[in-house]
Amino acid sequence: MTIDALPVAFTEGSTLPGGLEARAVSAWFGEHKVLDRVWLQMPAGRVTALIGPSGCGKSTFLRILNRMHELVGSASLAGEVLLDGEDIYAARRRLTDARRQIGMVFQKPNPFPAMSIYDNVVAGLKLTGLRAGRDQKDGLVEECLTKAGLWKEVKDRLRKPGGALSGGQQQRLCIARSLAVRPRVLLMDEPCSALDPTSTRRIEETMAELKAEVTIVIVTHNMQQAARVSDRCAFFLAEQGTPGFIVEHGPTTEIFDAPRDSRTADYVNGRF
Ligand code: ADP
Ligand code: MG
Repeated sequence: MTIDALPVAFTEGSTLPGGLEARAVSAWFGEHKVLDRVWLQMPAGRVTALIGPSGCGKSTFLRILNRMHELVGSASLAGEVLLDGEDIYAARRRLTDARRQIGMVFQKPNPFPAMSIYDNVVAGLKLTGLRAGRDQKDGLVEECLTKAGLWKEVKDRLRKPGGALSGGQQQRLCIARSLAVRPRVLLMDEPCSALDPTSTRRIEETMAELKAEVTIVIVTHNMQQAARVSDRCAFFLAEQGTPGFIVEHGPTTEIFDAPRDSRTADYVNGRF
C-alpha cells in the first residue's frame, strides 16, 4: 500500500471515522487479573482522558487498544475492541493494520536519537510497511510536523538529529512520527509527565487541534490537564487487590463538577 491509498483528512460531521469502543474488556498477566469488564466508548472528534491511581490498569488498557498487550508473553485478554464497529482482534485483521490505524505516544519521548528529524517522521511509515516517493515524503514531513506544532521550529534544520531537540520538541516529533501513517486514533500514555509546563501547554494545544481528525485517548495524572484537554473522562480504580475497573465515565464537566460516585469526587479533588 502507498500513502495515497490512505484515508484523507476527515471533515466535521456526525459520521466521523475513528470511533473506538471497548466491550467487556478484561485482562490478565498470567493468573493476575488486572482489568475487569471495562466498557468504554471513545468517540471520534473527542479527547477521552483515562484517570485514576497508579496500578489500576490504565496503561494496560491503552496497550490493549492497539494490540500491544498481546506482545507480553504472559498477557491474555477477553472482550472486544471495536474501531468503527469492527473488532481489531478479529482473526482476519492483521496486527500491522491495527498499529497503522491506532498510533501510540509514550511518557518518555522516544525519537530515534541519531536519525534526522526528517527521517524520524518518515520512519513512521516504514514501521508499518508503507512506501512513499521523495516528493510525497517531503509533503508528508511538512504536514505532520505542522500538525504536531513543530514545523516552524525545525523547518531549517530537518537534517539535524532528533536527539538534539529539547524534550518537548522530541515529544512533538514523536507525535509527528505517529501521524505519518494518518492514524484514526492516537493513544497517549502520560505524554507530558516528563515535560516542563511550557512544553506541556504546547502538546495540549496540539491535541486540541488534532482531535478534529484523530480520536485521542490520553492517560494523565494531572487533573488540571484532564479538565483542560478532555471532552470525556473515565475514572479507573483497583481496590484492595481487585482488578482495575471503571468507577464512572462521562462528559469531563460532569466527572469534575457533579460526579455520581464519592470515590470519583475524592480522586478528582486530590483526596487520594
Ligand atoms: P497504571 O497505568 O494505571 O499505573 P498498569 O496498567 O501499568 O497501571 O498496571 C496494572 C497492573 O498490571 C499492575 O498491578 C501492574 O503491576 C501489572 N502489570 C503491568 N504490566 C505488567 C507486565 N508486563 N507483567 C506483569 N504485570 C504487569
Ligand atoms: Mg501507567
